[in-house]
Formats: sequence, C-alpha cells, structure tokens
Amino acid sequence: MQIVVVGTGYVGLVTGACFAEMGNRVVCVDVDAAKIARLRGGEIPIHEPQLEELVRRGLAEERLSFTVSLAEAIASIPKGDAPMLLFIAVGTPPGEDGSADLRHVLSVAREIGRTIDRPFAVIDKSTVPVGTAARVQETIAAELGARGVSVDFRVISNPEFLKEGAAIEDFMRPDRVIVGCRDAVGVGLMRELYEPFVRRHDRVMVMGVEEAEMCKYAANAMLATKISFINEIATLCDRLGVDVEQVREGIGADSRIGYSFIYPGVGYGGSCFPKDVKALVHMAESNGVTPHVLAAVERRNAAQKSFLVEKIKAHFGPDLDGLVFAVWGLAFKPGTDDLREAPARVIIDGITAAGGRVRAYDPVAMENAKAEFPAAWFAGGSLVLAPTAHDALDGADALVVVTEWKMFRAPDLPELERRMRRRIVFDGRNQYSPDKLRKAGFTYYGVGR
Ligand code: NAD
Repeated sequence: MQIVVVGTGYVGLVTGACFAEMGNRVVCVDVDAAKIARLRGGEIPIHEPQLEELVRRGLAEERLSFTVSLAEAIASIPKGDAPMLLFIAVGTPPGEDGSADLRHVLSVAREIGRTIDRPFAVIDKSTVPVGTAARVQETIAAELGARGVSVDFRVISNPEFLKEGAAIEDFMRPDRVIVGCRDAVGVGLMRELYEPFVRRHDRVMVMGVEEAEMCKYAANAMLATKISFINEIATLCDRLGVDVEQVREGIGADSRIGYSFIYPGVGYGGSCFPKDVKALVHMAESNGVTPHVLAAVERRNAAQKSFLVEKIKAHFGPDLDGLVFAVWGLAFKPGTDDLREAPARVIIDGITAAGGRVRAYDPVAMENAKAEFPAAWFAGGSLVLAPTAHDALDGADALVVVTEWKMFRAPDLPELERRMRRRIVFDGRNQYSPDKLRKAGFTYYGVGR
C-alpha cells in the first residue's frame, strides 16, 4: 500500500519503519530538517531497540524514504487504484490549560487539503481528544473546497498503544488494533494494512471514531491510576512500617487485579501519561464533569516524584550543602532515552535546590540530559554526568536509584563500598533486598518498605 507518515518521532518513525518492513512503500515527513537529514543517512535520532535495523533495511530496499515536504511526499507516490493512506503522527503537547494542543495536527490537515489531488484516507495516530477526527475532516474539506477540488476521502482514528523501549515489538505484535471508522471502504483499507500484523488471530477492533479516540485516553488514564494507587498504598505502608512489596504480591495474585502496573516507585513520567491525564481532566471539566479520580491520580503522582527527596532530607536534614548524590537512571523508564516529565528531573532539582551535588548516569539518556538540565549546573559542578554507573559513585554520600534499568539490578556491593563516601542507598524502584543491603552494612531506604 502507498503510505505517507507525517511526524517522525517515537510513534511516526516506528509506524513508518514497521509498515515498510511488511512490504509497503512508505514516505515519512517531518518539519525538522536536521532529523530528516540524519534519517536519510540511516541514523536514528532516538533510542529504540531494533529500529535502526528496520530503517536501514527500508532505506536500502527503497521501501522507506524521508522528506521535509508533505507535497513532495504525496507527489512522489504514483497515482494508483487504492486511496493513499496519510498517517498523522505529530506531537499533541499539553496546552496552557492542560488540553491537548492540536496546532500540529490541524496544520498537517490544512497542508493535506492544500496539496492532495486524489482519493485518500487520513489516519489519526496522534493521541487526540474526542471530536478531533471531525475537526480534521472539516479542515481538509474547507481547503479542498477553496481549491475547487473534489476527491473522495475519509478520516479514521487509529490510536497507537506502543511502549517506548519495546515499540517495535508492540507495533509488530499489537494486543489490539483499534480502528475508529464508520464506512466500509475505510475499514477495508485498515484491515488490509494491518492483516500482516494480526495473522495469529484477528485483533482489529472496529468502532466509532469518537470511541476510538476515547479508548486511548481511557487506557493511559487507567494505567496512570494503577500507578498512583499503589504509590498511595506504598506511602501509607511507609508510615505504618509495612512492606508494600509483600502487599503488592498479595494483591497482584488476585486475577481481577493482576501484577502489571502496580510497582511502587517515584511516579510516572514520559510524554504520554502526564499529558494524557491532563487532557482527559480538561475534557471532563469542559464538558461539565468533575474528574474526581483523575485529579487525585495527578496529585498523588506530583507528590510521589518528591518522595525520595523527602526521604533524603529526613536522613540528612534539609540542608544538603557539601553532600554528593550518585543518581542512577535519568530516563522516565528503562529502555528509552526520553526524559520528558521524568521523575529524575524533580529529584535532581530537589537535591540541587537544597545545596547537594549530583553525579548522574544513565545508559542511553546522557545526550538528552545535556540539553535537559541548565548549563549553569554543569558549569558550576552541581551536576556531573558520569561516564559509567560506577564513576557516578565516586565520593558519593548516597546512591539514589531512579530508573530501573536491568544493569542496576544486581549492584557490585564491594565496588559501591569502595567508591562511596558513605553506604546509603535510596531505592526509588524497590529493586534491592533491604535485608541483603543492611547485612552488607548499607543504610537502605525504599518506597513503602
Ligand atoms: P515526538 O515529539 O517524538 O514526535 C513528533 C514529531 O512530529 C516531531 O519530530 C516533530 O518535528 C514532528 N512534527 C510536528 N509538526 C509537524 C508538521 N506540521 N509536519 C511534520 N512533522 C511535524 O512525538 P511522539 O512521542 O512520537 O508522539 C506523537 C503522538 O503520538 C502524540 O500525540 C503522542 O501522544 C502519541 N503517542 C505517543 C507514544 C509514545 O510512547 N511516545 C505512544 C502512543 C501515542
């Protein structure tokens, strides 16, 4: 099939690479010229396992190409019998009031309407509020009308559920493919496109456009709710001297609850949960519904990001002047270099604001960290990016584990002892056995233990 994907971020690039891998001809478009130049050379601007291999193969076999011009992308595809598929996968960041900012989505819609000259389907892959497909439809129709062009087209909602760090795997073997579309032609196109991804059994779920749009928000809000719920229980366990890890296992065994997304920690981050919960809160409020649950989920998460800083201050006192903290893990979760809304940001801010210094290490997010934190911190020495996890420990008064990368799971305790000034561990992911660490002479703090 002939596909254009607009936006080459985590979602757009993975979408384009996976469709090309299945034999489709895909042109990816992005306004970021530097990104497109790197992609043309087979260089991947983000960390995502297997992505580089797919992109390079797609380029070499000429199924995948990149351009900064949507008009050029459309023109490069020969006119055929089947409608062209145009995926919108641009960012939908939070606006000032928390609502999803649709500026990029609608600007792509306008550009499509100003350019296209043949039958097509627009597929919204970006996470967008209920009613957006209708707005995209109207925007395109207005532009086509202004040009006096009459072509058959439809707008389909196809939200994306991939996880950063396992994006290719998720895209290639989706739990479900949600298709929000009311006409048979659109549904037929989407079934044909996704058939190679759902060969074992049909996982395409067809529903209304608005229902599909809501599915994405409801799914992310549910996952964020599970995280905030267990974090609240963990905070209470902490006060009561109860080990939340035993509680987690005890409740996870109930098949109605399950084990996933009930790991206590330092709060959720990333480019999706925080903004999507905010957007859903906004959607509720602007439709006269009080979002009791969602507001609480957000409040707990904001509090949770400061949990370790409070533990640190409870141990050392409010003034951290002269103290050095090794921080392991900066990305908002393992497997990605994404620092958007990462708890590490709040924790490092909290330590430096109290006068402490930080030596941080992350296996893949170091480049992004250079851009994320103020240059003055690096220049003034309050934040150092260490070349290895062990180097980060040098002279540290405590180790603070923020992201649960596998490489941090079984630390070399004698090496910690040798490098650190004091043996204190703040374990933001409950990765370690408190008994084992205490036996080795460490002071251990977890979340709710
Ligand atoms: P991103 O910020 O990584 O990438 C967005 C890309 O769109 C950028 O490269 C930007 O330059 C490009 N862009 C912006 N305006 C453009 C335009 N007018 N024309 C062409 N390109 C343009 O975003 P992302 O993480 O890939 O997310 C994209 C959408 O998918 C969002 O709505 C997000 O909520 C949703 N989503 C993200 C994930 C995830 O894990 N990241 C998962 C599911 C859904």
